[in-house]
Amino acid sequence: MSGDVIKIKSLKVFAHHGVFEEEKQKGQNFYINANLYSDLAKAGRKDDYDLATSYAEVCETIIRSVTEVNYNLIEAVAEHVAEAILHEYPLVTGVDIEVSKPEAPIKATFHSVSVEIHREWKDAYIAFGSNMGDREGYIEDALDAIANHHLIELKEVSTKIETKPYGGVKQDDFLNGVCHIRTIMSAKELLEYLGKLELIAGREREVHWGPRTLDLDIILFGDEIISTKDLCVPHIDMNNRDFVLEPMCEIAPFVRHPITHKTMSDMLAELKNR
Ligand code: ATP
Ligand code: CA
Ligand code: CA
Repeated sequence: MSGDVIKIKSLKVFAHHGVFEEEKQKGQNFYINANLYSDLAKAGRKDDYDLATSYAEVCETIIRSVTEVNYNLIEAVAEHVAEAILHEYPLVTGVDIEVSKPEAPIKATFHSVSVEIHREWKDAYIAFGSNMGDREGYIEDALDAIANHHLIELKEVSTKIETKPYGGVKQDDFLNGVCHIRTIMSAKELLEYLGKLELIAGREREVHWGPRTLDLDIILFGDEIISTKDLCVPHIDMNNRDFVLEPMCEIAPFVRHPITHKTMSDMLAELKNR
C-alpha cells in the first residue's frame, strides 16, 4: 500500500501466546510493529488533533488485543491486532502488523522470529438473485448475514428489481439487485463465504443458469483483476447484464471498471444502445 503512514515500532507487550503449555503459563515478551495507512494531510495542514488518529489510543488497542486472548500462533495475534485497528480507527484504511517473539522456545541463537501481515479495507460489489420460493426472504437473510459478519461492513443495498431469466433456460422471474460492502477479507475468502450463504439458502447446482434460491456473484472487488479457475473479477459477463448494471447505476454510477475504465453508467448506456 502506498501513501501516508503512521508507524509504531517495537511496542513491547507481555502476553501468554504459544503452542507449548509453558509459554501459556509463564508468558513472554512480544514486540509489535504497526504501519497504519491513513491520509494525514488534513490533520497535518490544520495541525488539529481531532483530525488525527491518536497513537496513544492505537497503542492501547494493540496492548488490549495482544493480551485479551491467549493464542497458539503469532499469526493469530497479528490477525486479531489488524482487525481491531481496522474496526476501531475510521481514518485507517490499511495496516501492516508485525508480531515478533524474541524469546521463542527454539534451541538456537537468533534475534527474533516474527510474522508480518497486511490487511486493508476493500470496497466490493456483490450481485444477488433469486427465482425460487421466498425470493425476498433468501435475499434478506443473506444480506443480514453479510451485515453481521465481523470482517464485512454492509454499506448500501440497491432496490430489488424483477427481471426476466437470462441464458435461455425456461424458469420463473428473478428478483435481482446489488450491494456495496467493505471487507478485510480477500476476494477468494469472500467467494467462499458467499458460497456458504448460497448453501444455507438450500442452493443446488443442477442446471447452469437454471432456477436457484440464491445466487451471489462478486461483481467488483476494489480495483483487483483476478482470473483463476474459480474466480473471475470483475465479473466476466457484467457488461451484458442489465440486471447487474441497472442496480449498480443506482448505488455506484461513477465507479469504474478496472480494465475498461468505463463507469457503470457508461456500461449501462452501451448495453441499452446495442
Ligand atoms: P454466472 O457466473 O454466469 O452468473 P452462475 O452464477 O449461475 O453463472 P454458478 O453456478 O453460481 O454460476 O457459479 C459457478 C462458479 O463460478 C462458482 O463456483 C465460482 O467458482 C465461479 N465464479 C467465477 N467468478 C465468480 C465471481 N466473480 N463471483 C461468483 N462466482 C464466480
Ligand atoms: Ca450469477
Ligand atoms: Ca454465481
